[in-house]
Amino acid sequence: MKHVTHLECLICGRKYPPGEVDYVCPRHGNQGILEVAYDYERIRHRVNRSGGLGSNMDRSMWRYKHLMPMDPDSPLPPLQVGWTPLQPLTSLQDRMGLRNVFLKDDGRQPTASFKDRASALAVVKAGELGAEIIATASSGNAAAALSGICASLQRANLIFVPQSAPQAKITQLLVYGSTVLLVEGSYDQAFDLCLQAAAEYGWYNRSTGFNPYMSEGKKTAAYEICEQLNWQAPDAVLVSVGDGCIIGGLHKGFRDLKALGWIQQIPRLIGVQASGSDFLVQAWENNEDVLAKPPLVARTVADSISVGLPRDRIKAMAAVRQSGGAFIRVSDERILQAIPDLARCSGVFAEPAGAAAFAGLGKALELGLVGKKERIVVVNTGNGLKDIPSAMRAVEAAGGKAHRVEAGIESVRRVVSRNDAKDAKANDRFDDSRSGGVGSGC
Ligand SMILES: *Cc1c(COP(=O)(O)O)cnc(C)c1O
Ligand SMILES: [Zn+2]
Repeated sequence: MKHVTHLECLICGRKYPPGEVDYVCPRHGNQGILEVAYDYERIRHRVNRSGGLGSNMDRSMWRYKHLMPMDPDSPLPPLQVGWTPLQPLTSLQDRMGLRNVFLKDDGRQPTASFKDRASALAVVKAGELGAEIIATASSGNAAAALSGICASLQRANLIFVPQSAPQAKITQLLVYGSTVLLVEGSYDQAFDLCLQAAAEYGWYNRSTGFNPYMSEGKKTAAYEICEQLNWQAPDAVLVSVGDGCIIGGLHKGFRDLKALGWIQQIPRLIGVQASGSDFLVQAWENNEDVLAKPPLVARTVADSISVGLPRDRIKAMAAVRQSGGAFIRVSDERILQAIPDLARCSGVFAEPAGAAAFAGLGKALELGLVGKKERIVVVNTGNGLKDIPSAMRAVEAAGGKAHRVEAGIESVRRVVSRNDAKDAKANDRFDDSRSGGVGSGC
């Protein structure tokens, strides 16, 4: 791993040679998040953007393994992670006047969320260390990701999730065969419990905002976005924020590419939080010290970003500050509305936390944080099938419902004639209850 020069504490700046510490700065305890630093000259020697990234067949996050904190020869999990689609949202041109918006769809990962990128690297790192058991705390998706990737290698793992996690995510864990500890408490409490237990038993700890490599796995989405855009970085990226690891990881990815000279500019990163879980928006608006600011009690329908104390808050704040971006909040109502909105203009079904980024696009436009001609990437971080009850709430609120018909053509005719409006758009024709306005899809 000669391309990694050191790990640096984001509080005191102390540098540790790779391998000297596993997780956090010993002087700063659990707050002492480390950042991985690279010898870019050495990387440049090894690969460049048009060569050495692996063949065009290698469409996974591992095509960037020479830019990652791992031995490039380490065994890789067989489950394919990364290289998710970047889909143009052309319908937004008419609807919002936005010409150049793309959706990075990480709902298409093997366990259906962005977390696969981090968990895949965690499993590789645990392998390098010879750790037999991997543990994580999670609001659900990080766990499902670890669970699935471990299953692909038959590796033992232990999961700490709050009992309130959506059933689909808990089901994934049980299907994959993980040991699941349903914590009677919040995600924040599950997080602390996992820390304590992993230390006691010597398990490898994948928990976000503690393990320094998780944002390094997540940064691969930034590489993909740039490569998919032919190495032209977008102007702005919108992503939902809970712990802040994804936004911190994206920032790291863009910084790596800039340092390597593969892109010219770093996009403005716009972090979207739910109104009931807006620690970082508050800190941003009031210029508060994220280390001194007390935790809040999080409450939002978007369970994946329901976080009272964002564990990766230092990286998240730096991502927004240094990139000239912003933190914004969106209400649960708007998040729910964004689920059918996004689905109807893209075909992509997102879970609430994924749809939050799309809700943030409308908000960012209102606030003048993005321009209509700019190239904007919205990241969908999780698949809609992860949380069916919330999606049903959303469609019911938007007036969507199925037509119950008897098993005979007569009742079909009744439905069709009742809705026969020739000039209505295709899907609106049979939907008499749609409300119209911004929330009514495309
Ligand atoms: C984890 C997660 C997020 C937030 O990522 P952080 O790194 O915690 O900020 C957003 N959306 C989904 C679907 C997630 O699983
Ligand atoms: Zn320190």
